[in-house]
Amino acid sequence: MLQPSQLITHAGGIARGTRLQEFGFSRRMLSNSVKDGSILRVRPGVFAVPSTDAELIDAAAHGGAVTCARALRRHSIWTLNDDATVHVWLGGTGRVHHPRSCSCVGHFFAGRMSLGLAPLEVVLVHVYHCHGDEAFFAALESALRQRKITSSARTRVRARLPVNARWLVDLARSDADSGLESLLRLRLHLLGIRLDCQVVIPTVGTVDFVIGEHLILETDGKENHDDESHRHKDLVRDAAASLLGYETLRFDYALVVYDWPMVEAAIIAALARMAWRV
Ligand SMILES: [Zn+2]
Ligand SMILES: [Zn+2]
Repeated sequence: MLQPSQLITHAGGIARGTRLQEFGFSRRMLSNSVKDGSILRVRPGVFAVPSTDAELIDAAAHGGAVTCARALRRHSIWTLNDDATVHVWLGGTGRVHHPRSCSCVGHFFAGRMSLGLAPLEVVLVHVYHCHGDEAFFAALESALRQRKITSSARTRVRARLPVNARWLVDLARSDADSGLESLLRLRLHLLGIRLDCQVVIPTVGTVDFVIGEHLILETDGKENHDDESHRHKDLVRDAAASLLGYETLRFDYALVVYDWPMVEAAIIAALARMAWRV
């Protein structure tokens, strides 16, 4: 016979007692399972299994679901915001139940709330409201690249944004190679600079961006440009590009995120040099 713990595991590790009762588990049976340790009572009417992640149990104990930056990381989505604070979605009108003194941020965004972890398309909307345009845009492109939201979910996300923010969804693509690339493209778009992404240049390879005829921009993520062989490959690419008349500018995470004025000035200066050359 199916055990409450199996049903809760199937439901993602957390379930309401009312839901379990729909499957024939009486209050007494649930109480016995709590006693024998196979399930936990998170708060009255809410149950988990011992293997459920502590952060999700904590959110459920608040009467809500983990959302915003930490939820993005749980959904394996690139996140601009390193904020380690837990943001808990408590539904539109829910009451917050802080189980102990804690430093969580509570959100009362409307919507059909699930306990534990908020669904990705909901998290994206929360990220827009809580962390702003750039964090939202980079997260959306990361979700699209990994095919983690469907086109109908994308439409729903768009509809739930304020009218003056919907262009962010229209601008988003599914082929951005990294969060840094998303960020760079959004910022250049705001400067009115048009660029092509993931451009194949014979003898060079695929470059992140080309602006105009002859400017290549490459964004080096944290991961794979530190070791010698990657560095050598990058130098070979730059030399091959130069032979074809291109100028290459490379920016890393620290420059794009923490020193944007320098990046912007370097791009504008390169474009001015090229205009002068022509
Ligand atoms: Zn709290
Ligand atoms: Zn938040």
